[in-house]
Amino acid sequence: MHFTCLGCNATFPLTENIHTCPRCGGLLDACYDFGEASSWKSVWLERRKSQAAADRSGVFRFREILPFLSDLSLIASLGEGNTPVLDAPAAARYAGIDRVRFKHQGFNPTGSFKDNGMVSAVARARQLGMRLVACVSTGNTSASMAAYAAAAGLRPVVFVPRGEIAMGKLAQALEYGATTLQVEGNFDVILKLVFSLAPSLGMYLLNSVNPFRLEGQKTIMVELMEQLAWRVPDWIVLPGGNLGNVSAFGKGLREMRDLGLIARLPRLAVIQAEGAAPLYHMLRDAATALTPVDHPQTLATAIKIGAPVSWPKAVRELRASNGVCEVATEQEIADAKATIGRCGIGCEPASAATLAGIRKLAAAGTIRADDDVVAVLTGHVLKDPEYILKYHSGSLEANGVRLTSKYANQPKPLPADPEALRKALEATAATG
Ligand SMILES: *Cc1c(COP(=O)(O)O)cnc(C)c1O
Ligand SMILES: [Zn+2]
Repeated sequence: MHFTCLGCNATFPLTENIHTCPRCGGLLDACYDFGEASSWKSVWLERRKSQAAADRSGVFRFREILPFLSDLSLIASLGEGNTPVLDAPAAARYAGIDRVRFKHQGFNPTGSFKDNGMVSAVARARQLGMRLVACVSTGNTSASMAAYAAAAGLRPVVFVPRGEIAMGKLAQALEYGATTLQVEGNFDVILKLVFSLAPSLGMYLLNSVNPFRLEGQKTIMVELMEQLAWRVPDWIVLPGGNLGNVSAFGKGLREMRDLGLIARLPRLAVIQAEGAAPLYHMLRDAATALTPVDHPQTLATAIKIGAPVSWPKAVRELRASNGVCEVATEQEIADAKATIGRCGIGCEPASAATLAGIRKLAAAGTIRADDDVVAVLTGHVLKDPEYILKYHSGSLEANGVRLTSKYANQPKPLPADPEALRKALEATAATG
C-alpha cells in the first residue's frame, strides 16, 4: 500500500501523515495491491444480514476496496451510505430521455455524500492518532465533519468564510459541537492559511484534498453497482465543484473494472454551474491547465468553487471514461430542481444541475434517448429551504436577475369561509 503522486509519480508509504506530495505538492492517490476479488460480491451481500456497525456502514461494508484500515474499531459509523436508487419518469420526460434513475446521497446522516468520505477520513485521523480535525467549508463538509468527529470523540474545528454558509449547514456544525471560526477572507485564502498552519498545530485536515475522503466516496459507485446487479449504466452524471467526487467515482470505477467486478466503465458527465465552471472552460478550450474563476457565482452553493483542488484527478477520470463536462444556467438548475421535486424526490440546488445537464446533453445528441442514465443527487432538499421558498414565490434572484418560476407552487391565502374553500379545492381537483 502506498501513495502515488499524480504530479511526479513519486511513491510514499501509506503510513505517512501527508495530504499532498512532499516533493512537488501534487495530489496523492491511495494505491493498493488488492489481490483476488472473486469472492467480494458475495461477501458484501452476506454482510447485509449482519448487525455489526462496520457491516451496516454503506462505506465499510465494502472494506476490501479500502484496505488502508484493518482495525475496524476505528470506524465511527452513523449509518452512512445505504442510499436508494430512485426511478423518476417525470424527470426523464423533462430531460427528453426514456429513463433516468437517481442515486440519492441526500439520504445520508447529515444530508449529503460528504458523509461517505468523512467516515473514512475520520477513521484515518484516528488511525494516525490525531485528536484535532479541521476543514474549511461553506457547507456540507462542515456539517459532516462535525458529526463524524463528534461520533469518533475527536475535536472538530470548522473554518468558514464569513457570511458564506447556508443555514442548514452551519446549524448542523454548531449542533454537533464544532468550534466554528468565521474568518474574514474567501475560501481559497483561508484554505491556504489553514493548510500551512495545520502541521504545527497537530491538526488533521479533512478537506477533499485528503485522499481518504475520496476513498470513502468511491464506495458510492460500489454500492450503486451492487444495486444495479453489476450491470454498468451508460452514464453516471454528477455535479462538479471541487471535483473530489468525480475523482472518487472515477477511481472506484477503474478499480472495480481492473478487479473484474464490472465489465467496463460508464461514461462520467460532470455538470457545473455556468458562473463557476472552470473545468468546463478548460476542456472546451482544450487547455492544458485549469484557469480559476476569481468570483464564482451560483445559487448552488455546494458547487460555487472557482479553484477546484482536484481538477487534475477529474481530468484523468473524464479521459479514462470518455466523459464530458457540461454547464447549466441558474434558470436551468432552478427548473430542473422543481422537476425533481415534483417526482416526490427533492434535492439541493447543486444536485439538480445533473438533470439540467442531462437535458442539454440529450438535446445535443451526446446522451441518447435509450441510454441507461444514473444521476447522483448529492444533497438533501432541506439543505437550502430559502432557495425553495423563493423559487415558489417567484422571488428567486441570481446575479441581480429575477429567475422565472415556471413550476411555482405558491401558498394561497384563504378566508375561513366554506364557499372559498370549496372553490379552491374544486380548482385543485380539476388539475388532477
Ligand atoms: C460537495 C458537494 C458537491 C460538489 O462536490 P465536489 O466533490 O466538490 O465536486 C455537490 N453537491 C453537494 C450537495 C455537495 O455537498
Ligand atoms: Zn509529486
